[in-house]
Amino acid sequence: MKVGILGGGQLGLMLARAARELGVEPLIHDPKPDAVAGQVARHLAVDWTDHDAQDALAACDVVTYEFENVPISIVESLAARVPVHPSPAALAISGDRVSEKNLFRELGIETAPFAVVNTRADLDRAVAEIQLPAILKTRRFGYDGKGQAVLRRETDLEEAWAQLGGHPLILEGLIPFEREVSVIAARSSDGSICHWPVTENAHVDGMLHISRAPAADFSPALFESASKALESIMAKLDYVGVLVVEFFQLGETLIANEMACRVHNSGHWTIEGSATSQFENHLRAVSGLPLGKTERAGYSLMINLVGQIPDLDVFAADPDIHVHVYGKSAAPGRKLGHVTVLADSREALEARTHRVLEVVGKRA
Ligand code: AMP
Repeated sequence: MKVGILGGGQLGLMLARAARELGVEPLIHDPKPDAVAGQVARHLAVDWTDHDAQDALAACDVVTYEFENVPISIVESLAARVPVHPSPAALAISGDRVSEKNLFRELGIETAPFAVVNTRADLDRAVAEIQLPAILKTRRFGYDGKGQAVLRRETDLEEAWAQLGGHPLILEGLIPFEREVSVIAARSSDGSICHWPVTENAHVDGMLHISRAPAADFSPALFESASKALESIMAKLDYVGVLVVEFFQLGETLIANEMACRVHNSGHWTIEGSATSQFENHLRAVSGLPLGKTERAGYSLMINLVGQIPDLDVFAADPDIHVHVYGKSAAPGRKLGHVTVLADSREALEARTHRVLEVVGKRA
């Protein structure tokens, strides 16, 4: 069995490793010659439009992706030749913040108030409608907090427009959330679904810093409504693979922010923290294999290593601390690896995490 993976960053690397463990052969397509998934799989380092690469992918049993910005026309033309999961339609929706929010609303899933902004006059109208504070974002290609500006005063508009104007934009009301959580689920082609425990996420400058699972004090009623939200999206899109929805939590209310039709940074803890990782179950789902169990008795926490890799040897002595270094060249703001901490109690988890943060450095 062969799986084609579009995108060869760290998500592709971890997918390719999980594929090998399942006895499935991964084939990576990523135009970047230094894409890290190439360390563990055959790597087609050619343009997305390359015909030979398309033929090699079409010869796989199934194709999936770890990168949302693969040109949709390429994914659609592949889907005419080989099963592609999640579907190109799901990819197209998740790649546009407006389509994504329209889908949430159609399914009765709450979102921040929002308005489409294409011109400077649209921005004034949208601010009048939504009121400040608000957040202006590019509809497409935004990640890790890039392509967005928070508007607190009328005087912030000019600078935000100078920075982002010219792109199709969305203005969203700024939600005074208590915390951010992500809900990760997988659906296989026979319609069976698995969920992982809800993950609590802390961001620094728009980029994920720490994920904790299970999120503390997440009520069963809230879990039920979050799971129903994902299940309704999956049913609507006839979805196959891992789906992640990021929510803002305000008391007992969940407000959907965005979805990812792929494995996600907030699910990295599942490699050691769950009986089956998000990577394995994604591959199981897209390959038509039964989903693995996702229960976990203890507590997990993941810290991203951003910009530089400190000396991590000290963690080798602790079997409950797991270090992942992706092999990327260091650059400010670049995700270079992550550390997962496991424990049997929340107290032990926090104590162990404290030690890890002393080595890897707290980000502001
Ligand atoms: P995003 O790219 O949409 O995930 O945004 C990056 C981060 O910015 C989120 O994780 C939040 O911390 C913050 N953010 C985004 N949209 C909103 C919003 N509508 N209200 C409050 N905070 C937001």
